[in-house]
Amino acid sequence: MTDQWKYDLRDSLEATEDLIERLGLSTREADRLREVVTRYPMRITPHVLKTIRYQGDPIWLQVVPTTEEMELDYEMQDDPLNEEGDMVVPHLVHRYPDRVLLFVTNQCPVYCRFCTRKRFVGSPGGTITPEAIEVVTDYIRSHPEIRDIIFSGGDPLLLVDSLLERILSALRTIPHLEIIRIGSRVPGTLPSRITPELCAMLRRYHPLYMNLHFNHPDEITPEVAEACGRLADAGIPLGSQTVLLKGVNDDPDTMKRLMHALLKIRVKPYYLYQADLVTGTHQFRTPVETGLNILRALHGHTSGMAIPRYVIDAPGGGGKITVVPPEFVLEINAREVILKNYEDQVYRYPQVEAVPDAVPADDPARLTPLQRLPS
Ligand SMILES: *Cc1c(COP(=O)(O)O)cnc(C)c1O
Ligand code: SF4
Repeated sequence: MTDQWKYDLRDSLEATEDLIERLGLSTREADRLREVVTRYPMRITPHVLKTIRYQGDPIWLQVVPTTEEMELDYEMQDDPLNEEGDMVVPHLVHRYPDRVLLFVTNQCPVYCRFCTRKRFVGSPGGTITPEAIEVVTDYIRSHPEIRDIIFSGGDPLLLVDSLLERILSALRTIPHLEIIRIGSRVPGTLPSRITPELCAMLRRYHPLYMNLHFNHPDEITPEVAEACGRLADAGIPLGSQTVLLKGVNDDPDTMKRLMHALLKIRVKPYYLYQADLVTGTHQFRTPVETGLNILRALHGHTSGMAIPRYVIDAPGGGGKITVVPPEFVLEINAREVILKNYEDQVYRYPQVEAVPDAVPADDPARLTPLQRLPS
């Protein structure tokens, strides 16, 4: 039972022939995809395959290759966030002052067609070695400002328990490293991997957080709910990250259903990402207004618990920047803040005191808009 996930992984679709047999593609269609799959590997777990309902549905679009991936676009790059540029030692990206990102492997349970790391996922030899773990640990040990590490990849939960524990125990010898986070799509795509043994091991390394990856409510099956339940029962706070994807979740209703479904399985929405400018993924891009409209449909209309932060990861490596509909805050000045609520009503919040030398006391501009009204 414990090893079931390894069999599930082995039984995943990886060859274009599988698309003919299992997803009903014609020989001609599958042939056209051979070049794509050579460049960008495919993997579809039995669990994900089961959730595909029809050709081109929101699950299919995420995992089945298309020839559009080979189209070039001058705005798109292999590494648009310049992660290679911020790599301080192999596998470790240090961009922000107090936290680092660790690529523990480049293997994933599914190869998402829109992946930001399309440049390296799925190729052989991308898993961290014991020597590299030592170099990473030394780097963090000599940087006391680092208090948070995120395991990423690839998918960290594809490591076998013993290797994952080796990294966790090495890092837990560093007193200033307060928090360990694991980013993973495994609970939603290979739920059999979330074994009681894995959960028992992970809970020895608290405070440990997980950010899971979900894009559509159909991904939340009973098996996925149980896998997340096991993690939550191990005391691991669960967050979710969602990528805004054309044809998958680019409408307010789907997004609201996803966020509610996540909360029901004890996963708290964390980030909603605007699609990165990654070569081979332009077919998934949406206008930023689409994301803003989704936020407008969520804010106030549903609980704040269900609202992720909408972020654009700045091209070139500027990091994540939060985007909010601009009319939420119509104006901020020394006297007041003008705000608009979810019903389009405008409210005024007076500041605690005017900045003394910004506006002279007798200046009519110090009067509130109401005081200025003709009587
Ligand atoms: C996203 C990211 C982090 C973590 O950012 P948080 O906002 O703390 O979740 C850290 N390093 C890099 C390079 C990242 O892209
Ligand atoms: S699981 Fe994550 S890293 Fe792997 S292909 Fe999907 S988006 Fe990329």
